[in-house]
Amino acid sequence: MPATTTAATPQTPDAAKAPQAYDAIIIGAGIAGLYQLYRLRQLGLSVRVFEAGGGVGGTWYWNRYPGARFDSESYTYGYSFSEELLQEWDWTEHFSPQPETLRYLNRVSDKFDLRRDITFNARIVAATFDADANLWEVETEGGKRARARFLITAIGLFATPTMPRYEGIASFGGVSVHTGNWPHEPVDLRGKRVAVIGTGATGVQVIQEVAKTAGHLTVFQRTPNFCAPLGNKPIDADTQRRIKATYPEIFAACRESHGAFLHKVDPRKTFEVTPEEREAVFEKLYSAPGFGMWMANFKDILVDPAANATATEFMHRKIRQRVRDPKIAEKLLPKNHGFGTRRIPLETHYYEVYNQDNVQLVDLNETPIERISENGIVTPEGETPFDVIIYATGFHAVLGGFEAIDFRGVGGRSLKDKWVDGPRTFLGMQVEGFPNLFTLVGPHNAATFCNIPRCIEQNVDFVTGLIGHMQARKLARVSPLPQAEKEWTEHVHDMASTLLYSTVDSWLTGINSNVPGKRERRVLLYAGGAPRYRKRCDEVAAGGYKEFAFA
Ligand code: NAP
Repeated sequence: MPATTTAATPQTPDAAKAPQAYDAIIIGAGIAGLYQLYRLRQLGLSVRVFEAGGGVGGTWYWNRYPGARFDSESYTYGYSFSEELLQEWDWTEHFSPQPETLRYLNRVSDKFDLRRDITFNARIVAATFDADANLWEVETEGGKRARARFLITAIGLFATPTMPRYEGIASFGGVSVHTGNWPHEPVDLRGKRVAVIGTGATGVQVIQEVAKTAGHLTVFQRTPNFCAPLGNKPIDADTQRRIKATYPEIFAACRESHGAFLHKVDPRKTFEVTPEEREAVFEKLYSAPGFGMWMANFKDILVDPAANATATEFMHRKIRQRVRDPKIAEKLLPKNHGFGTRRIPLETHYYEVYNQDNVQLVDLNETPIERISENGIVTPEGETPFDVIIYATGFHAVLGGFEAIDFRGVGGRSLKDKWVDGPRTFLGMQVEGFPNLFTLVGPHNAATFCNIPRCIEQNVDFVTGLIGHMQARKLARVSPLPQAEKEWTEHVHDMASTLLYSTVDSWLTGINSNVPGKRERRVLLYAGGAPRYRKRCDEVAAGGYKEFAFA
């Protein structure tokens, strides 16, 4: 394919040392990076992807902990751009396990011959804009440099796992592992004394899996979450045929829903129905597969505190019914936030795990961890020995991946400085002062609150359209107008303020106690919904990108 290389390849005697030149550089070979590479090749651009991991897959490459799987229906999660791929690939379960998803992304990479443009084991640590040449220069951890007109981040939401700051973590003599950095070799848990710290969506998945084989499992919980049944099962042959025959309808339904899932919000308000009808709705949603309880509930459940309290009470009741020991059940009831105001973990027999003799729940609010010792974990009640400690302690979500790279825009300004009081972007896709930088799934982008591949495809198509617009007109530089960025940022804040989640601590609001100096809540996500977001992007494109300054 011919490359319309805008960044000329150096011809000097020092060429060997000079940075490699491309039209576009993509950071990350996960779902977003792979599709962006595919689309930019279609424009005839020379593209290089730098990927920190040793293979493709991003989140699904790193998070290979036992029990990791989709919370999205598998057939809503795959790429939609290739009918051939859709028809070739068989998802085996309604909610695919991580090894299958990673196989899928490898298959996509092979099918479209993507690997030849990807450099693996190359973590980008710095990216600097040369305003005279209108080029970005990136640098890897190992000191390799490359230049390109366009720089596209495809680093996902969870690029930076965070460890607690307990004393003695390094001194532990057993196996110590973070879920987001799980080793490639299997970790032997059978019959072992295992500790899991953290009970978010990851912790819940790992706990319910490890409890099956561990000799003894101790769960260290700081904040319980509202967990709803996943309802997973294998996909039988008939269903497989039906799925493949109805992909257009499946994707059309996703396009219409707020979070790009198959689940559509109930247009009624909570108190428009009788208490009996409400109970029946909750029961139906609770026993249906996937995120229905969270996303197909009454339209005011996540907005109105009184409505929210009804769902909270229902979920408390469910937990009490499922956990035999009332004292343990009480510890598992979320009391400092309402239902759905933090990300809902989906589970399979999670609560029943606490009825097992080999499982113990430690409430860190009553029994805090004092330190990690060579043998195990020390609390005011003494030292508990462990063979394995699993840290399911989450990520410096959304912003962590951006802060790990020293982005320098016009005049050497750092992105971290620009976002010191919270992100400011246009469409969560571009930042004023950082021309030609595109942030797929960036803060203030609908992809942050979405069945992510559905929004990723939209993001990538928008960026490809804009770059195509520039190529056709021989434009070298694009940056959003300050006013467009201001208006979008205000709109994102307005949308967030309507939802109860914005009043609660979690990664959704930028809170992670393991990140030094990060205690204030931030508006990171776009809560206005994928359809509204897509409409705005489409308007911008159809209007000739008037919200951007070109050069
Ligand atoms: P998380 O939701 O941030 O949960 C981290 C957990 O670790 C929380 O329970 C937290 O307690 C606890 N924790 C953190 N630091 C601690 C400390 N120093 N001491 C004790 N406990 C500590 O992270 P996550 O579970 O990895 O999930 C992150 C996101 O990844 C999810 O919300 C979801 O969007 C995504 N995810 C998706 C899937 C899927 O699609 N299937 C699966 C897993 C994850 P506090 O709540 O008290 O801070």
